[in-house]
Amino acid sequence: MSFGGQSSGAIERVVIVGGGTAGWMAAAALGAYLAGTGTRVTLIESSEIGTIGVGEATIPTIRRFYASLGMTDAEVMRACDATAKLGIRFVDWKPGTSFVHPFGRFGQDLRGIDFHHYWLKARQAGQAAPLDEYSLGAMLAREGHASVPVPNPPSQLSIFDWALHFDAARFAAHMRAFAERVGVIRIDARIADVALHGETGFIESVALDSGERIEGDLFIDCSGFRGLLIGEALGVGYQDWSHWLLCDTAFAVQSERAGEPPSCTTVTARTAGWQWRIPLRSREGNGIVFSSTYQGDEDARTELVSNIAGKLLMEPRKLRFTPGRRDVAWAKNCVALGLASGFLEPLESTSIALIETGIERLKQLFPDKGFDPAVVTEYNDQSAEEMERVRDFILLHYRLSTREGPFWDACRAMILPDSLSAKLDLWRARGAFLRYRWEMFSPASWLAIYGGFEHLPERIDPGVAAVDPAELARALAQMRAAVARTVADTPTHSEFLATVDGAATEPLRTSA
Ligand code: FAD
Repeated sequence: MSFGGQSSGAIERVVIVGGGTAGWMAAAALGAYLAGTGTRVTLIESSEIGTIGVGEATIPTIRRFYASLGMTDAEVMRACDATAKLGIRFVDWKPGTSFVHPFGRFGQDLRGIDFHHYWLKARQAGQAAPLDEYSLGAMLAREGHASVPVPNPPSQLSIFDWALHFDAARFAAHMRAFAERVGVIRIDARIADVALHGETGFIESVALDSGERIEGDLFIDCSGFRGLLIGEALGVGYQDWSHWLLCDTAFAVQSERAGEPPSCTTVTARTAGWQWRIPLRSREGNGIVFSSTYQGDEDARTELVSNIAGKLLMEPRKLRFTPGRRDVAWAKNCVALGLASGFLEPLESTSIALIETGIERLKQLFPDKGFDPAVVTEYNDQSAEEMERVRDFILLHYRLSTREGPFWDACRAMILPDSLSAKLDLWRARGAFLRYRWEMFSPASWLAIYGGFEHLPERIDPGVAAVDPAELARALAQMRAAVARTVADTPTHSEFLATVDGAATEPLRTSA
């Protein structure tokens, strides 16, 4: 079968444009996937242009991504100045309070009813502690401890997961070293022109500033915000979501380490957005993300700098972005990954995770030269839905915040996407979770945010009425005590990092 004038047959030449996190992750994964098939993978990047250089907090899927390439946690952590991330701590989103969104669950379900219904019942009777205290992941993060989860958790209370904070440039370099080992060819040059087929509009080649032309069958656009191929050459539009996601500017800066590294990312609400603190082993990454409509650059920059404990290692760097996504991530013979495919904002560290799922999806749907529309459509549908689900999860935080000020008022006043409104309605009505396809965040994550903001449902599961209140209070106290005991028995984050240094190349073992 052929499509768009292309002949069918196996893809022989994959050309990746861009050598940031997205480009080198794609090169490593596709290089490994296509090794031995005869398909050549080439990556073109311009050291003159450089990369965005931020993107240091991840979610646990990153560990599965590099494990699939045969890399261990210890190896990646040492190579990338990495620390453990057990969740995100939200400070002052509800003024004067903080809560953790852990990579794990809360409490223990009883009699087939989700834990949170019991927690809500006990709370109504004034007999429940904050939700965090029933979650091992949340409490490890809060108390600055870290470990590898036990392989076969004896109870739901032992379940948690972890991710990394890493130096983005070193992670890309690590991916590059792997990609080159599996045969990916790297070209350092600026792309000056893109040639399209006269009839089909497919990309035929890119022209380098040296005059050389690099031809390909499949092009992967990892050129960052500008979308050199998908946007500029193929004219695919961009859906601007700034009426929902109001933040559009950031300042990023590195600082010296101040104290013991926390085992979580800290995100603190500010005047017109929020500030991040990401602990690495040798330094910290900091930044403020804000809405330029509600705060001026100088004000935001000052707010950032005056809230960093360690000495600054550079001048804060300004970054502008338009939250949203490409109309389609795959057009003709070009698949966009990373910032070229869209960007929301970094609150839940989802951008690198979306690169991973994009790569995985491309492998699952890897085309031949026919570029069957069924494959392209499926890729685009999945990508769009996944991004919309992430958008809704990020929006939830702004919607539930009780902070005052014009920015925060605007976040609460906006008309939400129907998909999010339906979720909120169901939660309010019955404490239940509405689940869609291609959701990156599970009900436990939604619960972390609902519970953290104390945005609680009007009705809970009627089955909970069968449990004697005194018995319920006892069960909850036992869960809380079990979590506290495990936290006390778990190494501090610094001790955990020392075990990473001690580990050779074997997988890290649980130390709890
Ligand atoms: P880039 O890093 O911009 O790379 C683009 C590449 O294209 C470069 O190699 C460049 O040289 C090349 N290129 C461009 N034009 C040409 C040309 N003409 N010729 C040749 N080469 C060219 N993500 C997370 O997951 N976690 C976070 O904590 C996080 N924090 C963020 C904070 C901020 C403020 C921002 C803006 C983003 C954050 N992100 C985060 C997103 C993350 O930074 C990106 O997803 C990631 O870095 C991937 O970027 P990229 O590879 O798509 O683009």
